[in-house]
Amino acid sequence: MTPEIINAILDWFGIHARALPWRKDATPYHVWLSEILLQQTRIAAVLVAYRRFLEHYPTVEDLANGDVATLMKLWEGLGYYSRARNLKKCAQVVTERGGFPRTAEELQMLPGIGPYTAGAIAAIAFNQPAVAVDGNVARVVSRLLGRTLSREATAEFLRPWLPAGKAGAFVQAWMELGELLCLPRGKPHCEECPLRAHCNALKANRTDELPAKPPRPARPVIKLTVFHLTSKDGRIALRKRPPTGLLAGLWEFPNCPGSLSAVQAKKWLEEQGFSVRNLATEPPTRHLFTHREWQMANFQATVSPESSLFLWATPDELENQYALPTAFRNPQGRRKAHGNKKLNP
Ligand code: SF4
Repeated sequence: MTPEIINAILDWFGIHARALPWRKDATPYHVWLSEILLQQTRIAAVLVAYRRFLEHYPTVEDLANGDVATLMKLWEGLGYYSRARNLKKCAQVVTERGGFPRTAEELQMLPGIGPYTAGAIAAIAFNQPAVAVDGNVARVVSRLLGRTLSREATAEFLRPWLPAGKAGAFVQAWMELGELLCLPRGKPHCEECPLRAHCNALKANRTDELPAKPPRPARPVIKLTVFHLTSKDGRIALRKRPPTGLLAGLWEFPNCPGSLSAVQAKKWLEEQGFSVRNLATEPPTRHLFTHREWQMANFQATVSPESSLFLWATPDELENQYALPTAFRNPQGRRKAHGNKKLNP
């Protein structure tokens, strides 16, 4: 690394930085919220969610005092729901202590905040001398040096080069370059890159190989049978998931382990005490989690009675009130089909 490289990337960031909403008013609350939303979620979805969150929770105190069901509904579709639960816990701690701490070390003590987010808040919101290394930053630095670096090694490499008083611009410049030019798949836009004269991967024609990816462990496949049950009144059966574990405490359509045939599915429904009409097979779906895959057989049926084993939601309530994880949402327009059903008077 050289001072010329630092100046080149800072100058480039000064000209090309995107006008993202949390950059206009980079309070600790805004930076924290944006960084939590950006984990594992596409920027287009984050922009919509960020606006939605600030409308509901203009301040960290509003978020701390909000109810969990509304928060989960706002989070619907973003995945990794433990982030939402930690968001509330963190907001409560911050509210109790009267604001966010300023250093990365203290920020890391808060619920749901790891080294990356702590560094990002400290540097961007407080201009503290901290680095924040995500996949984008590690990729740019690995290519620049011509060898694969872990996130920890990248942080150690960058730390001595933090420019005094410009930590926020420094950490964002590396992220932005990785996001806009030094792309992970396909050809990076080296011709536009401010670091091209210094880049070892480009010189060695190894931009495709670097950084080397660790082999992915195979995901276990779990088979489920999911039931989309409607009562005679057009209400939809929902069930709450257990309070701990995967998708804890969220709502789901009734389901059971294994891939059932139509005969077995009817038997399972009858065992739940239902009289079954119009049992129909729907196309199978699957959902990828980080560490597992669900393969789902789907059935739709009209059932009676409205058993107390389940919650019976109107289509409006399903749309606006109950947080349904992406795994159960909208494959082949299922949710739309439910939404089109009219309640009988
Ligand atoms: S020159 Fe290309 S590979 Fe090197 S840092 Fe820039 S965009 Fe990435």
